[in-house]
Amino acid sequence: VSSLEPREDHRICVCVRKRPLNQRETIMKDLDIITIPSDNVVMVHESKQKVDLTRYLENQTFCFDHAFDVTASNELVYQFTAQPLVESIFRKGMATCFAYGQTGSGKTHTMGGAFSGRDQDCSKGIYALVAQDVFLLLKTTAYEKLDLKVYGTFFEIYGGKVYDLLNWKKKLQVLEDGNQQIQVVGLQEQEVCSVEDVLNLVELGSSCRTSGQTSVNVHSSRSHAVFQIILKSGGKLHGKFSLVDLAGNERGADTAKANRKRQLEGAEINKSLLALKECIRALGQNKSHTPFRASKLTQVLRDSFIGQNSSTCMIATISPGMASCENTLNTLRYANRVKEL
Ligand code: ADP
Ligand code: MG
Repeated sequence: VSSLEPREDHRICVCVRKRPLNQRETIMKDLDIITIPSDNVVMVHESKQKVDLTRYLENQTFCFDHAFDVTASNELVYQFTAQPLVESIFRKGMATCFAYGQTGSGKTHTMGGAFSGRDQDCSKGIYALVAQDVFLLLKTTAYEKLDLKVYGTFFEIYGGKVYDLLNWKKKLQVLEDGNQQIQVVGLQEQEVCSVEDVLNLVELGSSCRTSGQTSVNVHSSRSHAVFQIILKSGGKLHGKFSLVDLAGNERGADTAKANRKRQLEGAEINKSLLALKECIRALGQNKSHTPFRASKLTQVLRDSFIGQNSSTCMIATISPGMASCENTLNTLRYANRVKEL
């Protein structure tokens, strides 16, 4: 089937991944309202009530580059999203992969940043799968003569500030030099020589990300985590793959009664996700102006949004339950806007 062939020519690819109902949702008798009738269509079947109280289903259909049902593995998702972009960083490109969605919808599961026994299946996530292909390509005749070295960085953006996850969450300054180059001053770049090395970095950074929290998801769901695989040649940047586990996009009904800190957090996240959408769209439209200064997230990813050799994929993760309907629709609408040129 030709539609199953990963596309190689695109600069922006937007996919959706549905996770299975979890145990809690099953116990609460939440209903699965999402169907994936074909490999690029997502349908939401929302239960609504008429004035006479009779119930009916409102069906909404969304199309994407790919839609993954609950049985899809991380490997399959990878094949259609990040994998086609890996080789571009050997050709001096900038590749970026975003996981976008509500907290609990499967962003970290997909990216592979959960290592504290929360993930039962322990399958490789996108971080590990990208690393695997990078080390394979490094040894091919086409690229081994480039004498490239591989480095990893891992940082978090929370409340508009950058924290180094490979250095005890040290707060870092972001500077823009005269040539509009963005620099995260003092960001740890660790050399990595194997997939194992990369996994160790991911584990270190992930434990740093969640340390000192009462509940695992409280803080990490409110921050963006950026893991980068950087290729350098003679000490100079050659190419870069940024893998971004975005902050939860939910704007729950609880925002109104949330405390001031939560409100500010929410406003900051909202601002950065809006800026992200505009920057990705600008990339797709080859616009001369990219509004990357609108948030810290887009600012630090500036080189991913400009230049001829940048490509981006987004994996929008959705929860299947009726209880998540509003957030799911918001996620699908956002993903649709990113894709739509
Ligand atoms: P997020 O990072 O978006 O908040 P997580 O990745 O932590 O969400 O996922 C929440 C829970 O759901 C985790 O226990 C995770 O293992 C599980 N989960 C997420 N996606 C899937 C999936 N596609 N298949 C099976 N379990 C999943
Ligand atoms: Mg997460």
